[in-house]
Amino acid sequence: MGDIKVLISKETLEERIKEMSEQIEKDYEGKDIVLIGILKGSVMFMTELAKNIKNDIALDFMDVSSYEGTESTGRIKINKDIRDSIEGKDVIIVEDIVDTGRTLTYLKEYLKQKKAKSVKIATMLSKPSRRVVEIDADYLGFEIEDKFVVGYGLDYNEKYRNLPYIGYIE
Ligand code: 5GP
Repeated sequence: MGDIKVLISKETLEERIKEMSEQIEKDYEGKDIVLIGILKGSVMFMTELAKNIKNDIALDFMDVSSYEGTESTGRIKINKDIRDSIEGKDVIIVEDIVDTGRTLTYLKEYLKQKKAKSVKIATMLSKPSRRVVEIDADYLGFEIEDKFVVGYGLDYNEKYRNLPYIGYIE
């Protein structure tokens, strides 16, 4: 394992997350929001995002994993589902990074089926060059090139989640 190089500094990242919070606050004026964080990578982004939104917010979490293998459809397995009903609620899925897009495509559909009034996506990062399934985030922090990134919640074998910046492994 080589050194970690800084890709996005803590200051730049948190400045951008603040802007995202402000945008969400504007778009959801007078509405309650349910933030659904996708464990574990979204946790730091989610808390930072939530702290800067003044609406009434409920937090819930899901844990999902993708079945590895040759299957091109990329099935998703739910390890932990949301706890509370989202029927009639305005939901924002909070994700660390969109890569192939499979996870969010699946989750958006899944949460719509639970009769949410609306389902939007907020992601800290996106790697558009890796996309297999077309999906657009409603709120996007940064587009990055095809590098494996760690930090600010993102791990490499459970390590580096606590780095306060986004880095990549050289
Ligand atoms: P996808 O969009 O391919 O369905 O999957 C997105 C998930 O893959 C993310 O939530 C994250 O867990 C993982 N992932 C994708 N790219 C990276 C990366 O560069 N670094 C880390 N640590 N995880 C990644």
